[in-house]
Amino acid sequence: MSKTGKQEILNAIAAPLLAWYDVHKRTLPWRGTKDPYQVWVSEIMLQQTRVAAVLPYYERWMQELPDAETLAAAEPERLMKLWQGLGYYSRARNMQKAAKIILTDYNGRFPQTSKELRRLPGIGSYTAGAIASIAFGEAVPAVDGNVLRVAARTAGIADDIMEANTKKLFQKMMEEAVSQDRPGEYNQAMMDLGATVCVPNGAPDCENCPLAELCEAKRLNLQNTLPVRKKKAKRRTEELTLYLLLRDNTAALRKRPEEGLLAGLWEFPHLPGTLDEDAAAQALRDWGLTPLEWRKKITGKHIFTHVEWHMTGYLLTVKGGGDDFFWADYGTLQTLAVPSAFGKFLEQVLRQMDSRGKI
Ligand code: SF4
Repeated sequence: MSKTGKQEILNAIAAPLLAWYDVHKRTLPWRGTKDPYQVWVSEIMLQQTRVAAVLPYYERWMQELPDAETLAAAEPERLMKLWQGLGYYSRARNMQKAAKIILTDYNGRFPQTSKELRRLPGIGSYTAGAIASIAFGEAVPAVDGNVLRVAARTAGIADDIMEANTKKLFQKMMEEAVSQDRPGEYNQAMMDLGATVCVPNGAPDCENCPLAELCEAKRLNLQNTLPVRKKKAKRRTEELTLYLLLRDNTAALRKRPEEGLLAGLWEFPHLPGTLDEDAAAQALRDWGLTPLEWRKKITGKHIFTHVEWHMTGYLLTVKGGGDDFFWADYGTLQTLAVPSAFGKFLEQVLRQMDSRGKI
């Protein structure tokens, strides 16, 4: 089919899609609002994260940081705590940077066009499109993985959606296809259709799809072939030995560097490789610590986008130095932003320290 034919199919999506949305839209706390701040927070949280997981985070965030002003003024530590468990922490840090810019450069008023929004830290073309269309009615698309999938299937486009050029092509085609009258609802309808009907894993529910009559993938039985996505590079594996050190009713932590993976968050001290008890004890001596009682060996795994951590943790009581570490008592440990990569280990440490701070 010619490019024009594919564009015509995409242009025909709006009417059946919006009619379907009027009946089937999901009820979500950020739906029905035109407040750009609320739209922004929800869209950033929803990147790489499922709706069900986002809901409690969104509620907590809005209670504590209901607008750009409170976000700009929030303590970074508190911000990380509110984000703890969502992953990709740079999203929260970028939001705070953007909130400060909104206050200083825009007098606290949100920029209203997708072009201006894209200038803010952490706001790419998808998020800018979502905010501009939902909050300000600008007729721009919000092209994310859902839209790429639905559009590739409907129009029968077999280009590799991992390629930058393909994304550009879809962006252009969707700019023409987006509803001029109801762009915000159009974009939200695409999100809902991609999440509930034209799903990424498993068979799409073509029988209940408002686009079924237009859809090339359905007509040619290509639902499992489209969209085309080249294989990702294999993740590398890193082995780590974690020290879960308990001393005088406190546990040892240190802060990660301000740049890179999990930047600025708290972690348990660790060394590369999987060390046995003897080798692990040697490092303790280097830190000026003497082991008292080895209590537990705990193993765990955490998968990031490009790397997989295989962790072995030693839970033990110690005495002596450890001057490079921050020694947190039970209450403090619960307030610190420790990433979910260490969640299993944190749980075990807290279990050893009861609520009265006794180990
Ligand atoms: S008909 Fe099937 S493949 Fe086509 S858009 Fe609908 S759910 Fe997706």
